Amino acid sequence: MQINVAQLLKESVGSNRSYQLDKSIGADNISSVKGNLTLTRTKSGIMVNGEMTATVTGICSRCLKQIDYKIDYTLTEEFSSSMDTSKDQYLPGEPDRPTIDDSHVLDLSEVIRQYAVLTMPVKPLCNSDCAGICPSCGHDLNQGHCKCPPQAPDQRWAKLVRLRKESRV
Ligand SMILES: [Zn+2]
Ligand SMILES: [Zn+2]
Repeated sequence: MQINVAQLLKESVGSNRSYQLDKSIGADNISSVKGNLTLTRTKSGIMVNGEMTATVTGICSRCLKQIDYKIDYTLTEEFSSSMDTSKDQYLPGEPDRPTIDDSHVLDLSEVIRQYAVLTMPVKPLCNSDCAGICPSCGHDLNQGHCKCPPQAPDQRWAKLVRLRKESRV
């Protein structure tokens, strides 16, 4: 996703352009990204604002099925211009900020990808009430019960239960 901003850099602060994005990515489990981007001329460069939706491929953290899910995220990043177009002079540029290269091309691919990665859930689910799999036989409990006996109560609670019983005496 590269946009030539030579013209926008020549315009006054506050000038803006809108772009529609629909792009396949194919990295970091992101299959595609869609959204609307607004590029606004700032004093030192270009501010990029975007409302994005990424389609991500992952594994449900409960039932381990492969799933495709969507994440919505907002992108806000200011790119410094390395050149003052009105004077044709190079500017020092701001540290910690992506810069627009000398040919005035803004490369958004990396920013779009990074923001998506930061928004991805640590434990994606196929469905918010996914029943998961049986820890004994691996049966997908979304498809009904398996034949395993009910799980023994968690040993970590056993001591608490005993304490509670004793305190009643
Ligand atoms: Zn699931
Ligand atoms: Zn089972």
